[in-house]
Amino acid sequence: MLDMKWIREHAEEVRVTVRHKGIELSVDELLIEDEERRRLKRETDVLRERRNRLSAEVGRLMQEKRREQAEASRLETKTVNARLAELETELRAAEERFGVLYELVPNVVSPDSPVGRSDEDNVEVKRVGETPIFPFQPRDHIELGELHGLIDVPRGVKTGGSRHYYLKGAGAQLHRAVQQLALDMLLEQDFLLLDVPLMVKEEAMQHTGYFPLGRDQAYKLNEVDGYLAGTSEVPLIMYYAGEVVEVEAPIRLAAASMCFRSEVGSAGRDVRGLYRVHQFAKVEQVVICKADPALSNTMLQEITANAEMLLQKLELPYRQMAVCTGDMSQKTYKQYDLETWMPSRDAYGETHSSSNLHDFQARRANIRYRDEQGALRYCHTLNNTAVASPRILIPLLENHQREDGSIHIPLALRPYMNGLTELRSP
Ligand code: AMP
Repeated sequence: MLDMKWIREHAEEVRVTVRHKGIELSVDELLIEDEERRRLKRETDVLRERRNRLSAEVGRLMQEKRREQAEASRLETKTVNARLAELETELRAAEERFGVLYELVPNVVSPDSPVGRSDEDNVEVKRVGETPIFPFQPRDHIELGELHGLIDVPRGVKTGGSRHYYLKGAGAQLHRAVQQLALDMLLEQDFLLLDVPLMVKEEAMQHTGYFPLGRDQAYKLNEVDGYLAGTSEVPLIMYYAGEVVEVEAPIRLAAASMCFRSEVGSAGRDVRGLYRVHQFAKVEQVVICKADPALSNTMLQEITANAEMLLQKLELPYRQMAVCTGDMSQKTYKQYDLETWMPSRDAYGETHSSSNLHDFQARRANIRYRDEQGALRYCHTLNNTAVASPRILIPLLENHQREDGSIHIPLALRPYMNGLTELRSP
């Protein structure tokens, strides 16, 4: 959410961002509705003041026994009240119309973010690690999963429908191992680990910027008024919603959770294997800090570096992408994606997404701090994946396979795999 006064003063900048982010919103309509609700508010305030003056006047006139004038003032009060009731109804309707548009206003974008329509316009920042050249026909993760008994998609579909899977044996162990490795890495850096609610209220989705635009991605609960969170970013940010926080040092939060996504709009895309599923596990990093652009940019580099460290521990080749305006969410100010090499796709595939939201999300969630002058200010918030599984199992299995079908287990994972050094060729 942006400050409405700022929007009024920077309407052209907002128009450009709306266009660059591909959001369906007429800024002119927003400004008209804003003007209308403010006009109605002014009129309502004037009449309320008039009514208060009249009722004081009636009291005074009655005391002075000037009954006729008192009656005249009472009659005028009636007329004022009737008009006030009308105006209040109009004002409520105008506020509602305004609110619908206001919620669609996107965050501005950092000047160094590429302008573009889709992920095809993202710009590569760097590549790390060598992509493997296999002197044999490599298997994809599903074939490797079947070979070693790690993944069972048909039974997942039998139980949960399309885009579901079972992980079993060493597959389930690897899934847990990557998460624990990521958590231990974050704990070493003083992230505070939270175990979080995943059935969340409508307002939690709204306050964190996932509604209204991401509504169709969320599963609605039947029995209670709520949704299954698509990421633990929602409960992590909501932890401090409505509070004045201490951010002398940036707040670093971590959670490991399941994530639930309808993937509406992805019909027919990435249907084979574990790339795009309805339920997956993610270790998430969230940072809440002072509203200092230099500081939050440093934090963006820090949480991106954490994800890179994880990929290096997994001995995987990856590249860093500067995400373009059209591939960013409404709330994003600046974003990097990390894409890891996936031999079966013969391409890098997104495994991490690192975002600085500036004060957009904190304004919605009302998370503030006191600055040096004692004034209340909205914080900056950031988030990034530490690891998401089973997607990360795709590069992990595929890059580390050998000709005989065995799979190398990276050194850093071995303590979490009972010392296992490889998945043996069966
Ligand atoms: P996001 O929270 O949308 O930024 O996604 C963070 C990471 O979660 C992505 O980079 C993927 O690694 C993973 N991810 C997102 N959506 C899915 C999905 N439908 N299936 C599997 N993994 C996903």
